[in-house]
Amino acid sequence: MRLLVENLPANGRTVTFELADEWARDAAAVALDGAPVALSGGVELSAPTGKGRVLVTATVAARVDRVCDRCAEPVVLEVAGAMSLLYLPSGEPVEENADAIPEQDLDVGWYPGGELDLAQVLSESIALQLPPRVTCEGVEACDGRTEALFAAHRATLPPPTGGFSVLQSHGASRPSK
Ligand SMILES: [Zn+2]
Repeated sequence: MRLLVENLPANGRTVTFELADEWARDAAAVALDGAPVALSGGVELSAPTGKGRVLVTATVAARVDRVCDRCAEPVVLEVAGAMSLLYLPSGEPVEENADAIPEQDLDVGWYPGGELDLAQVLSESIALQLPPRVTCEGVEACDGRTEALFAAHRATLPPPTGGFSVLQSHGASRPSK
């Protein structure tokens, strides 16, 4: 879903979305690495400034079925929160806009051709809220399963004793006096 920035009303605009909206569902699927089973929220756009800067706040509640990055058990991943991004027209260097960025840690994006792609905004805001790793909630159970996986993997490897005994016999054949 694309919006012409110059057509944004003076008091801004809010576009809400839910799971039934294809553009939002597809954008969320990209960021979540899987089709969302629940999705709702809204993208709030400020009126553009003279230089075409738009402050965008995306509020998202999403749920997706994933697997634990450690033990591969099924995990329900939930994202719920709001993220603000400042969008500038493509080609405008961020340094010239330093004074326009109200918060130091505000993420900055660029939009080409005078059009803001809300799908891209949504993917970006979800990606920024994702944990670095998707893991089980129960740490102990996850540790147990992970250890079992490692043990099973070790069992498939050839025993290391062969190589070790060769080294030992080689060492023993060395002149010791
Ligand atoms: Zn796990």
